[in-house]
Amino acid sequence: QTQGSGMLCVFQDECLGQGSFTRVFKGTKVDIREGEEHRTQVLLKVLDANHKDYWEAFFEASSMMSQISHKHLLLVYGVSVHGAKNIMVQELVKYGALDLYLKRKGSVSVSCKLDIAKQLALALNFLDEKNIVHGNICAKNVLLAREGDPSQETSPFIKLSDPGIKVSLLDLILDRIPWVGPELLQDPPILSLDSDKWSFGATLWEIFNNGETPLKDWDLEMKRRFYGTYQQLEPSQWTELADMITQCMDYQPASRPSCRVVIRQLNNLITSDYEVLHASEAPER
Ligand code: ATP
Ligand code: MG
Repeated sequence: QTQGSGMLCVFQDECLGQGSFTRVFKGTKVDIREGEEHRTQVLLKVLDANHKDYWEAFFEASSMMSQISHKHLLLVYGVSVHGAKNIMVQELVKYGALDLYLKRKGSVSVSCKLDIAKQLALALNFLDEKNIVHGNICAKNVLLAREGDPSQETSPFIKLSDPGIKVSLLDLILDRIPWVGPELLQDPPILSLDSDKWSFGATLWEIFNNGETPLKDWDLEMKRRFYGTYQQLEPSQWTELADMITQCMDYQPASRPSCRVVIRQLNNLITSDYEVLHASEAPER
């Protein structure tokens, strides 16, 4: 519950799940405007008590998101402090995290995946133009607001979620391989707009591998060695896509393509190339 200019009350309903440092609940936001009640369903992200030392970073993520507005960025209403609890109040996104959605569905069309990739690139471009580093781009932080249905000619619609607590504050950099740019393993770690591009490359990989987790079950030493020996994720058979991912995941931050180039390349990907590729593979299966 919180008090703001328009008298805003937030109520907690059911628990929806858990993040790395958070528990999420469905809630209802009530604003009173001109004597009238307006109710909106919201998502309440509660910082775990054992991570409450990170409240400042949690506030930072929230304030970053609430100061910017873009159709593919999650709407964050603000942070509410309720007793010892820090709660981020944000838009409730219907289909939740993209990685889980892709795993659950199993067969999302390539054109849908391409639409999602383009929308994420637009969000990235927006942040880039504003000189804002997100710092935690991955498929679990891409939320799906609308499903795409090629037979009805409707496109999916995504929203990039808040980054949570800055990775550089946490002891989780190795865990976050292959999403973190390798420059974050340096001492001191360097987080820049270029790092988001690396993460975007890893996210593209996840999208086109149906939400599969890259380097799943690898231990931290193996992950460290992966970067130490300049390896790349298993390339897609769709060469043009594989090239894009490799360019984004360039070990030299400055060599990664600009957002403009990324968007242009995505627009140049032709879904039928992928379908032809897979049709020709079919007899061997
Ligand atoms: P990280 O701290 O790295 O972001 P996380 O993404 O697992 O980790 P949360 O962001 O707290 O943690 O999200 C937990 C889960 O809640 C997500 O996986 C997603 O399924 C769901 N979720 C998060 N935000 C929303 C939202 N705005 N609308 C609907 N579901 C959400
Ligand atoms: Mg998240």
